[in-house]
Amino acid sequence: MHIIDFHTHAFPDKLAERAVPALAKEANITAALDGKTSSLLQSMNRAGIEKSVICSIATRPEQFSKILEWSHAVASDRLIPFPSIHPDDPAAAAQVRRIHEEGFLGVKLHPYYQNFYLNEPRMNPVYEALQACGLILVTHTGFDIAFPRDRRCDAQQILHVIENFPELKFVATHFGAWEDWDRVENQLIGRRLYMDISFSTSYLEPGRLRRMMAAHSPDHLLFGSDSPWTGQQEEIDRVLALGLENPFLSKLLYENAARLLGLSGTDSLPSK
Ligand SMILES: [Zn+2]
Repeated sequence: MHIIDFHTHAFPDKLAERAVPALAKEANITAALDGKTSSLLQSMNRAGIEKSVICSIATRPEQFSKILEWSHAVASDRLIPFPSIHPDDPAAAAQVRRIHEEGFLGVKLHPYYQNFYLNEPRMNPVYEALQACGLILVTHTGFDIAFPRDRRCDAQQILHVIENFPELKFVATHFGAWEDWDRVENQLIGRRLYMDISFSTSYLEPGRLRRMMAAHSPDHLLFGSDSPWTGQQEEIDRVLALGLENPFLSKLLYENAARLLGLSGTDSLPSK
């Protein structure tokens, strides 16, 4: 079985030693790994995962260059880093173009850690640049386990973005919006966006998960673990326990991600 994990995090070794315990404490969760790329690779080997997308998050504008540099250093056949820009940086749209020119495939944003709202007008030049470059946008969506429940990236705000940027390769995380799944089912499922299923398999009961999966386009669901905040093997086990049938399962675990990353075939968004 081929597997791509579309949602992981890792940090430079020294930073991992500080950041992972601190972030885990803030969110009141236990990290499954120490946040180093070497540990991520070992976890991938154990779980039979071929490739992982590493989502970096710039929490200050000044971090752009360091993250870009580190992303180059760790990029490999198996690790696919998505650098980050910060919405407060007036150069954010230009930095998106630079990320593209330097060969990366996507960008990660996080409205809580970066203190913005997904549908703010100041984000438009960033989305415009992402769309024009054909870069993938992975953004945290829904509530966040470590923050008050302020609506920064809910179904309505996602719809606003994808309606205004119809060619943007938009990946909502956590099955559309973490812990806001009624609105996902009512407003988002079936629309033209990708959704990863990270941090949903242990929060939604299996019947509801299967129902949500069946209601979205089978070509636009992605497996993501959110490692190190969960264990990759455990997340795969939860997906396998759903008893999904092929070819749906292979699309979810591998084919959709491979196509979106340009590893096979051509990507297209659903028409709705
Ligand atoms: Zn994450």
